Amino acid sequence: MIIAVDGPTASGKGTLAKALAAHFGLPFLDTGLLYRAVGRHVQLHKGNPDDPADALAGCGFPDSILDDPVLRNEEVGGLASRVSIHPNVRAALNKRQVDFANQPGGALLDGRDIGTVIAPHAEVKLFVTAPAEIRARRRHDEMQRQGINVAFADILADIRARDERDMGRLDAPLKPAEDALLLDTGDLTIGDAVQAAISLVESKLRQK
Ligand code: C5P
Repeated sequence: MIIAVDGPTASGKGTLAKALAAHFGLPFLDTGLLYRAVGRHVQLHKGNPDDPADALAGCGFPDSILDDPVLRNEEVGGLASRVSIHPNVRAALNKRQVDFANQPGGALLDGRDIGTVIAPHAEVKLFVTAPAEIRARRRHDEMQRQGINVAFADILADIRARDERDMGRLDAPLKPAEDALLLDTGDLTIGDAVQAAISLVESKLRQK
């Protein structure tokens, strides 16, 4: 079985994806990490993430970079969003994701275009959302807990800019697949969101 989990930044999709993978015993790929690795590799080589050739060169990142905690930073997330616009970057990362999705026994992938491009044949597609203000509040709380002081307004502006870039790009824009199940986590605790996601997947599987 393949489960595709897509949605905007800070929607809770990463947490849900990990919990679903554990619950259903599926190998898990956080595809955002691949785009973050490209952005970070470009940065380390003093390239320009908005330049398609520099961004493509970033796809040659060593796998060891995937374990670097710096990849989780807001700054690297912004770079990832910029390199992910380029069709040549998306094409270069495509095979790795498609192969992961199609491995024997199935898989769970989370990202922006899993249900639409990488695994349109997935048995279950979840699209996880929450209002931008709530996503910004979560991100703000998380950063404060880590001792990082950033104004709420700046985080909200960054999230809106990222949404716009992810939804507005021509190649594989962020959007729910036609047959995706929508889950708005805005009013839910993490525990309730996980339960809701498991119930959605189970009800979809019962219909098969
Ligand atoms: O999910 P995460 O925040 O780690 O993703 C970072 C960026 O990578 C996103 O803002 C998006 O622009 C890009 N991305 C993408 N397609 C994916 C996963 C991530 O374009 N499948």
